[in-house]
Amino acid sequence: MKVLVYGSGQLAQMMYLAAVPLGVIVSAVDVATDTVVHPVSKEETGVSLQDAIKEAVAITVEFEHVPEHLLLEADKSSKLFPNVASILAGADRVREKALLTNNNIPNCQHLIISQVDQLDDIVEQLGEKVIFKASRDGYDGYGQWRMGQASDLPKLRDEFLNLDLQSVPLIAERMMQFDREISLVGARSKQGEIACFSLAENLHHEGQLHVSVAPITGLTDELQQKANAIFETLATAMDYVGVLAVELFQCGNELFVNEIAPRVHNSGHWTQQGCDTSQFEQHIRACLGLPLGSIELRDVSAMVNVIGCKNFDRDFMEIPNVHLHWYGKEVRVKRKMGHINVGAKSHKTLGTKLQKLTDYLPVEHFPMLEAEALRLQKCKN
Ligand code: ATP
Ligand code: MG
Repeated sequence: MKVLVYGSGQLAQMMYLAAVPLGVIVSAVDVATDTVVHPVSKEETGVSLQDAIKEAVAITVEFEHVPEHLLLEADKSSKLFPNVASILAGADRVREKALLTNNNIPNCQHLIISQVDQLDDIVEQLGEKVIFKASRDGYDGYGQWRMGQASDLPKLRDEFLNLDLQSVPLIAERMMQFDREISLVGARSKQGEIACFSLAENLHHEGQLHVSVAPITGLTDELQQKANAIFETLATAMDYVGVLAVELFQCGNELFVNEIAPRVHNSGHWTQQGCDTSQFEQHIRACLGLPLGSIELRDVSAMVNVIGCKNFDRDFMEIPNVHLHWYGKEVRVKRKMGHINVGAKSHKTLGTKLQKLTDYLPVEHFPMLEAEALRLQKCKN
């Protein structure tokens, strides 16, 4: 059985690795060249895109910014999961906000800015602290502008004059005072069965995810149920098939959706060692119409991204239940090179393991690690 993935980065690679034991072969499409490549070596397979579409039992994406004409072409085969509308809801913040609002899902107060004049009363509408996001093609904090005070407005206005806001509007969002960022990664099958992984707690630095911890500290059934209900509403409304990630802001007991990602997600990488079934296997199962796997926890987990560096002491692998996942990419500033999954029996012992990791990893590339290790070590268990 063959699955075709649009996008040929690390997510396609990890889908490939998870699919092999199922007897499923994953190929990837390099969307810059429309060529079919091996998801690990990235070498061209020599199979045309048309033939790869024909041969595939299911087609999916590793990221939402796949050119729309490619999605529509893939969709003609009726083998694309999730469906085009779901992928576009993740790729376009205007559609995403409409999805959230139409389904009464709490999200950040916002305005859609399609002309610069709308900035005139933005402070009255949203306050002085506002985050502007390009409605398309943003990721890892790129395509975002922050206003900290009203006096920042003239400079932003000048900048926005250079943008084609009619074609690609901005979303202006009130800056939220959240307690923490969490995410729910889950899957919906073709039959409408749903399985949500434990909530993960996400630590960002300069707009980029650095560390996830799952389950979140202090997780209550009530909070997990609330997140699961949001997932179910969204996934059902979209008739979604596959793994879907929902990024959330937690304010007390309230959850607000920041954004959705219609794919496997960086904040779900911990499931590779931390769960009975990984998000990658789960996605392949869902797209192929196989039963969803158990999402039972094996451990309390942390996922540490390796960002912008490759020279560090690999001897950390001597620590039990610590696993490196390397993507094989050229090193670049702020580029995700790989990740490290760490498992422990409790948040407290997870903290001790993260502390050990700091002995091996350069602090300038892992700026969140030490503080997170200390925080977790203070947990009761
Ligand atoms: P990614 O694709 O890596 O998740 P992104 O570039 O698509 O990121 P967002 O997730 O929308 O963009 O924003 C990046 C980060 O900026 C968030 O994780 C959060 O830390 C912060 N942020 C975004 N929106 C708000 C908001 N309304 N209030 C406060 N902080 C915000
Ligand atoms: Mg995000």
